[in-house]
Amino acid sequence: MCGPECLEDHRICVCVRKRPLNQQETTKKDLDIITIPSNNVVIVHESKQKVDLTRYLENQIFYFDHAFDDTASNELVYQFSARPLVESIFRKGMATCFAYGQTGSGKTHTMGGAVFGTDQDCSKGIYALVAQDVFSLLRNPAYGKLDLKVYGTFFEIYGGKVYDLLNWKKKLQVLEDGNQQTQVVGLREQEVCCVEDVLNLVELGNSCRTSGQTSVNAHSSRSHAVFQIILKTQEELHGKLSLVDLAGNERGADTAKTNRKRQLEGAEINKSLLALKECIRALGQNRPHTPFRASKLTQVLRDSFIGQNSSTCMIATISPGMASCENTLNTLKYANRVKEL
Ligand code: ADP
Ligand code: MG
Repeated sequence: MCGPECLEDHRICVCVRKRPLNQQETTKKDLDIITIPSNNVVIVHESKQKVDLTRYLENQIFYFDHAFDDTASNELVYQFSARPLVESIFRKGMATCFAYGQTGSGKTHTMGGAVFGTDQDCSKGIYALVAQDVFSLLRNPAYGKLDLKVYGTFFEIYGGKVYDLLNWKKKLQVLEDGNQQTQVVGLREQEVCCVEDVLNLVELGNSCRTSGQTSVNAHSSRSHAVFQIILKTQEELHGKLSLVDLAGNERGADTAKTNRKRQLEGAEINKSLLALKECIRALGQNRPHTPFRASKLTQVLRDSFIGQNSSTCMIATISPGMASCENTLNTLKYANRVKEL
């Protein structure tokens, strides 16, 4: 079982979140094929066909550290996912929280990256909830004497390249120094002094992310967005939390029919999500070699995977409809592989 204390004894926590059927799906009479009978079980009722062409439902059961149904609030999801990570960075840790899933399954809704954009539901997402807890912990006497300063960065990885969302999408180089530390050269680190400052950064980054795009999802679903909260004491790194809104994991039929640019994008996304899975698994098994060089995403997040003080949380978001069944199963299988053994 995994409670808010989940990461006390685990370094990897995997959660699944189901969103409600949306208006479009309801109109098309799509069926909800996901049940969450308890807080760590997900069942997919897949429609199959017999040789005589009659259809039947086959149940597939998955177990996770935590499973949230379509009534769960962002606040609840946060308590069991990113909240323990916030504590850990005050204790000199490195931490990463990923939102993984098909486009339209609720990654950005969960992260809260669209609070100022298209999302009509203005409930706070993980960015805002993290910011609240960071500033309340900062006032905690236990951490007061550390004289910590808080910084934010926000960048996007698209087609294997890094773009600074706090600096007009400036293209940045990623370099490894002699100590095998990875650096995004010139990445803007903005000091933040209150929750409002953090939300302003998120808003700035989001407007930069979507500018010039006709559809928000058209572009954002093809790139990974990384928002980081960095704690420093006397200019020295103390702890870092990365919140990653990953590119949509859909593939095959969704992209095969489209143009070559889309195919290349898809190949790059697959490569990075595969590398991510391998890196998280290496972390969970305490393997000495983490294949972080296999993609820009894992290379940039390298310091979050290495060292005894790193912890990872994945929130796999799933769509409930039968029409999304194949993508949902892919997401659940991936999340299943990432679990600590
Ligand atoms: P993604 O970032 O994975 O592509 P979004 O977060 O943009 O998906 O979600 C797609 C749509 O579904 C948005 O309009 C969002 O408001 C809605 N949505 C997603 N998750 C939920 C949820 N748990 N409850 C209510 N609406 C949701
Ligand atoms: Mg999104």
